Amino acid sequence: MRPLLVGRFQPFHNGHLWLVSRIVREYGSIIIGIGSAQESHTLVNPFTAGERQYMIQRTLESNGIHDFYLVPIEDIYRNSLWVSHIVALAPPFDVAISGNPLVKRLFQEAGKKVIEPEMHGRETYSGQEIRRRIAEKENWKDLVPPEVYRSIQEIDGENRILDLAKTDEVNK
Ligand code: NAP
Repeated sequence: MRPLLVGRFQPFHNGHLWLVSRIVREYGSIIIGIGSAQESHTLVNPFTAGERQYMIQRTLESNGIHDFYLVPIEDIYRNSLWVSHIVALAPPFDVAISGNPLVKRLFQEAGKKVIEPEMHGRETYSGQEIRRRIAEKENWKDLVPPEVYRSIQEIDGENRILDLAKTDEVNK
């Protein structure tokens, strides 16, 4: 069985790495859908699909995980067609892994098996918390794999988020 995990990964953090490692151990491979691929340069979605792809690929390879496929998936404004949209873009998959009730329903209605992921360190590892810490200049390094930290440094991602936060202030 080949599993599909869809998330925005803004950014990919230690909780995601734990989950992906567990899925690969169980199924032997994984398809990772990078959701909202059209989004970037906002406080909720600061990183482009390409940047997220780069962070995830570097992290998984450094952790000895090689059986993965990364698929950027843009949002479409028709929920009833979303799973067909993914099927058209991704390698074949048998099971979708998601805890989001809407996402689960869409896959189920399309006849796909859905498994709810186990959460790991959820109180610490959260994309929203990492973005908040960056915007407030707090320590966030320990929440992400070193490859993600380095990738965000490389693209000047901290200053990008600080500028986005300033832009929000200006537009209030
Ligand atoms: P998401 O936006 O990545 O996740 C939503 C929330 O659930 C975030 O707080 C996220 O935390 C958390 N979460 C996700 N996976 C988790 C896990 N394994 N453990 C703990 N917390 C987890 O993803 P989503 O809501 O599941 O949606 C996936 C993508 O599908 C999105 O890009 C969405 O726009 C897209 N989508 C599109 C359509 C359409 O185009 N019509 C329809 C449905 C969904 P973290 O930030 O820490 O991961």
